[in-house]
Amino acid sequence: CGIIARASPDDAVGALVDGLERLEYRGYDSAGVAVQHDAGIAVHKHAGEVADVRDEIQAAAPAGSVGIGHTRWSTHGPPTDANAHPHTSDGGTVAVVHNGIIENHAELRGFLSERGYEFTSDTDTEVVPHLVEHFLGQADETLTAFRRAVDRLEGSYAIAAVVEGEDRVYATRAGSPLVLGVDDDACYLASDIPAFIEHTRDIVYLEDGDVVVAEPDGAQVFDADASPVERRRERVDWNS
Ligand code: GLU
Repeated sequence: CGIIARASPDDAVGALVDGLERLEYRGYDSAGVAVQHDAGIAVHKHAGEVADVRDEIQAAAPAGSVGIGHTRWSTHGPPTDANAHPHTSDGGTVAVVHNGIIENHAELRGFLSERGYEFTSDTDTEVVPHLVEHFLGQADETLTAFRRAVDRLEGSYAIAAVVEGEDRVYATRAGSPLVLGVDDDACYLASDIPAFIEHTRDIVYLEDGDVVVAEPDGAQVFDADASPVERRRERVDWNS
């Protein structure tokens, strides 16, 4: 039910977990993070309280520069560790967090299962990392693969993804909230501004169909037709 993502040269874990705590008011039954580090993407996730995940993550998660975090409010599959986000592709190349509902998940699950992809959760979300991996096998650029995957989705979603070996976050939204925060040396994506307001007050409001590539030194936004766009920016001055 809440997303936080960060692309920065510094360790992301603390900011991700703080962000999850700031999103607690939205309600949740599970929480987790995925962090990019030297040996790949590390995922830590649990059914239950952010406080529990926080302890587990800070004990176990390696320092990483780019990461995604999620608080889940289950719609497809009970609140279990396996159904908690982030969800990963086979081999762990792609990790995804998602808010909302993928309405055509059954059809996509069939398409992917026929091609040998193996599912480890009951969620609608899990089709997304497998789809991205499927299109990574066909596209020269990750951005192209991410967009092809997103173009197959029906429903409402805010999605953030990391791909092994890439210091950036890919994200999109359609019918679910997602805002971009831009700092001098970091970019943030979140369901709501309080998740990152202690780090930056420079906000970019995304529109439905937008795809974002967020890197430590800036973010590029593309519209639903894949054209680069400038969205409305604002410096928020309210207190968090
Ligand atoms: N539909 C997804 C799930 O059940 C995401 C729910 C949410 O927005 O937290 O895992």
